[in-house]
Amino acid sequence: MPERTDSDSRRLLRRLRDSLALPGKGQDRLDRITHLIADSMRSEVCSIYLFRDPETLELCSTEGLKPEAVHQTRLKLGEGLVGQVARMGKPLKTANAPAAKGFRYMPETGEEAYCAFLGVPIQRVGERLGVLVVQSKTERLYAEDEVDALEVVAMVLAEMAELGAFNSDEGMGGKHTHPVLLRGGTGQEGAAEGHVWLHEPRVVVTNPVADDPLTEIERIRDAVAKLRVSVDDLLSLASLDKEQRQVLEAYRMFAHSRGWLRRMEEDITRGLSAEAAVQKEQSSARARMEQVPDAYLRDRLHDLDDLANRLLRILTGQGRDTGAEMPSDPVLVARNIGPAELLDYGRKLKGIVLEEGSVGSHAAIVARALAIPLVIHADRITAEALNGDPILVDGDQGIVHLRPEETIARAFRDKMAMQAQAQERYTSLRGLPAQSKCGTVTALHMNAGLMADLPSLEHSGAEKVGLFRTELQFLIRNQMPKREELARIYTRVLEAAKGRDVTFRTLDIGSDKVLPYMKPQDEPNPAMGWRAIRVGLDKPGVLRMQLQALIRAHRDRPMSVMFPFITEGVEFREARDTLLREMERERAMGHAVPASLRIGAMLETPALAFAPDRFFRETDFISIGGNDLKQFFFAADRENERVRRRYDTLSVAFLEFLRRIVLRCEEHGTELSFCGEDAGRPIEAMCFAAMGIRTLSMRPASIGPVKTLLRRIDLAELRELIDAAMLHGDSVREPVIDWLSQQAEQG
Ligand code: PEP
Ligand code: MG
Repeated sequence: MPERTDSDSRRLLRRLRDSLALPGKGQDRLDRITHLIADSMRSEVCSIYLFRDPETLELCSTEGLKPEAVHQTRLKLGEGLVGQVARMGKPLKTANAPAAKGFRYMPETGEEAYCAFLGVPIQRVGERLGVLVVQSKTERLYAEDEVDALEVVAMVLAEMAELGAFNSDEGMGGKHTHPVLLRGGTGQEGAAEGHVWLHEPRVVVTNPVADDPLTEIERIRDAVAKLRVSVDDLLSLASLDKEQRQVLEAYRMFAHSRGWLRRMEEDITRGLSAEAAVQKEQSSARARMEQVPDAYLRDRLHDLDDLANRLLRILTGQGRDTGAEMPSDPVLVARNIGPAELLDYGRKLKGIVLEEGSVGSHAAIVARALAIPLVIHADRITAEALNGDPILVDGDQGIVHLRPEETIARAFRDKMAMQAQAQERYTSLRGLPAQSKCGTVTALHMNAGLMADLPSLEHSGAEKVGLFRTELQFLIRNQMPKREELARIYTRVLEAAKGRDVTFRTLDIGSDKVLPYMKPQDEPNPAMGWRAIRVGLDKPGVLRMQLQALIRAHRDRPMSVMFPFITEGVEFREARDTLLREMERERAMGHAVPASLRIGAMLETPALAFAPDRFFRETDFISIGGNDLKQFFFAADRENERVRRRYDTLSVAFLEFLRRIVLRCEEHGTELSFCGEDAGRPIEAMCFAAMGIRTLSMRPASIGPVKTLLRRIDLAELRELIDAAMLHGDSVREPVIDWLSQQAEQG
């Protein structure tokens, strides 16, 4: 077998490109490609398998196998040798395919006649498109240079697919034109329709094939040199913290890696353009990233990916600012985004779709504060979406429709119109109390975390701000905010509340909320680690500064403060004493101090429900932080999609526990409220109210639905029903829902 040379490879790529430039249908193009490759690789067979859906590959074109198998033969991801190539995202070769482990016999193709097999993935920066295969009758192992050559061809195919070379045909085509449905998770409920705005637009490579390898090699060397200088420049900045420095050190290591540049140069010699060579490296890094279980190594591969993006930007001159104009109804699409960047976009965003993210991520916290529907974990969205694509975001279901068909869009609009109508009905209830038929009134308060939330106090009909989360002002800065700055913010919050009470919760950092300017703690279990009041008591400087700012902002107004994550009475006492001491200091310095003081604790750990009586007597009020409380009660991480919805809030176990808390508060005359997300879910909310939790604090949009339901029912009757249902079964949800539907029927 004569050896393949780089010039063979270059000739093939050029023929491929020219052939793809000819007019014709997508299928004709695919057939020309398989013919060309088989010929050039001196193989009897060349086939292209493409993904039909994320789990299924379909034979879309072949030279050498039986033509009737085209569009008939399908394989699951991981099935047969082809499926294995797709799953692993790397080449696979064997001298005797029918004898190889995992070979799947597909009689309709006639492939059993071919022994030698080489398959390479067709992928583009982590996006799997399919598998390219060559086979031959002679029992031989394809040589390494043939593997390299086929990989380069596959890269060009992937780029051509990206440019739409196979469009107008059902085979591969339709990329970036067909409707796509993506399922992710709920970050913030709500529905939105708009057009895609990519936070980091993709770099578009228009020519994957090099005409002159020498020029391309010069270009890549130049670009890598510039990249090295830019990383060195970044490293010389004085303001870097340890973590940023570590990341940049890793960047520098990769940027100076000889292997990286050498591999790209070799691919250019085989015929790729400089940009395509970078993307090929990036693709294999992404494929490796998916295989690596070790989080640290995955992060490093992530760095490499990021570095490749920088290199591509240098090569193509396409900066972040591509000159595209933001649509009037932008839906932000990104892999991930920081809280400050999200706040910069602000309320003009109609929706947000993230490929990564988590429920408690800072981006999610901001999206929630701004009430912008957010879908997280929308796999592949950044690869699928293009700027300006129409998009529907269903934050309730965690579903995204990209380039939706008109029927879907119409149904979606109907749903949004119904929600808007309901919202109008809620507005008409704004001035009315949440009084149930039995006469009991439930106080409905709202949760907030930004100045921008305050206007909702009036619109939603909430009586007060029951929980003001103070983390955001700390999270969105690069350095610790100053006391005066905080005092100014709190003053504005109080002014915007127009005399209504605001319960400020002191800083709840740690866990998922890591301040960018504080030394990160390497904790195995941060949600159960050094967080919230634990940090406040161990390092009281920040807590004291925040309390001073709060006192100054209140001046002589009444003040309500609560401490997060109290686990033992003694922690509450210490925190309260710190506050009282700060009051004394402020008074001694001649500053105005609040006219009255309510000091509360958040009950977020089961232990606090069993605290000695003294704690209940000493606390002015207790607010149940159900989000945290539930995760510790059920031992189910609130951040983990696999388990976070696994256990029912209305399970007998949890209600029994809440009943105990209610009883203890009643016994000691301690005010009790519930401020976790469940307080804003109408069914849960009415059950809590029926069980005696008479203050609920929730996001503003939930006040209307919760009030509507509370006004329709008799809490005393519901209480009886819950008590009875708790004696049987595991959860009261079903009997409660049945009861509600009977109520609705009785009208
Ligand atoms: C809670 O845990 O329920 C709560 C209100 O606090 P956060 O969601 O901010 O942890
Ligand atoms: Mg909490």
